Amino acid sequence: MITGIYPGTFDPITRGHADVIARSIRLVDRIIVAVALNPGKEPLFELAERVELAKIATQDIPGVDVEPFDGLLVEYVKNRGAHAIIRGLRAVSDFEHEFQMALLNRKLNSHLETVFLMASEEYSYLTSSMVKEVASLGGPLHDFLHPQVAERLTARLHVRRS
Ligand code: ADP
Repeated sequence: MITGIYPGTFDPITRGHADVIARSIRLVDRIIVAVALNPGKEPLFELAERVELAKIATQDIPGVDVEPFDGLLVEYVKNRGAHAIIRGLRAVSDFEHEFQMALLNRKLNSHLETVFLMASEEYSYLTSSMVKEVASLGGPLHDFLHPQVAERLTARLHVRRS
């Protein structure tokens, strides 16, 4: 049973994330989507809500589990008996940060591999930040988010404004 861990902030999960998950499940038997607490990024959604939305957005993909996680990624990967970290790559701008993180994680555990996947090109520009901006300006979200995630984002921004 080969397990991959896909860590991220998922604030909120987009169709780009879901596309990476759907692709990665062709390579491994099980994917754990590890939703990081990541207070440094000051997420819009609470951790429990990001987990819930990730579950909703991946419910039709078999072999996916979603869990919250906090702490050192290499420890989490070891505790879960996982074999690889999955990350997504968009434009060249993602590369440097991802490269640094992959090498740092390898330094912390030399047996750990990071596998990079590209989402479909229609999502290659998509970021959670961009989606939140479109939502705050009242733009259409269907192409970017699962309908229930879009609904929750719109509601959250509405509450924030009022
Ligand atoms: P983090 O804060 O860890 O970067 P994100 O939720 O922003 O968390 O992203 C998690 C991972 O998914 C990262 O590797 C990121 O590059 C990747 N990712 C996000 N959106 C896309 C996308 N549209 N296409 C490909 N990869 C993506």
